[in-house]
Amino acid sequence: MVNETLQRLETPDEQSLARLHEGLSLPEMHECLGIPPDYAEITGLIFFAEPESLAIVGEDCFGRLLRLEPTAREAWEEMRSAAAGDGVDLLPVSGFRSHYYQADLLRRKIRDGRALSELLTVNAAPGYSEHHSGRALDITTVDTPPLQIQFEETGAFAWLQKNAAQFQFSLSYPKERSGIISYEPWHWCFNQ
Ligand SMILES: [Zn+2]
Repeated sequence: MVNETLQRLETPDEQSLARLHEGLSLPEMHECLGIPPDYAEITGLIFFAEPESLAIVGEDCFGRLLRLEPTAREAWEEMRSAAAGDGVDLLPVSGFRSHYYQADLLRRKIRDGRALSELLTVNAAPGYSEHHSGRALDITTVDTPPLQIQFEETGAFAWLQKNAAQFQFSLSYPKERSGIISYEPWHWCFNQ
């Protein structure tokens, strides 16, 4: 039912996309992107505010600035060094993302020719990605392409499954869950 509703969404035209800029309110960003006002009800996804403070962790695997909410950063660093102690390299792919970053990401993908209805099954609408909270991390390991299902076959994934809970990290979109966002073995969230 969720997918049927999303399939009917129209992909916004260039005129509408061009109106998107930093500083717009969330409803305004949604309007530019063609996201319906009842998106949260349709998808069952939760709104995530941006945190009051952010800590710089370092660089992600693409050399971009990696930021997390301060307590999540502490837990991530502890987990990463514990993994390293077991000979497992946990590499961060992505941490905090702003509402605007998510909106711009969707805009870039639409400009690349992707349909909105298809994008919304892999990307949450701005405001609804756990990455906004600064507590979620996409993780990969050496010799593994980031954000790919084959991460589940790595020793790093096995290590996380066994140990992440100890550091209050959990898999947000597991295989057995039937939500709007598909299975993401790389996406882990710190829960206080
Ligand atoms: Zn993620």
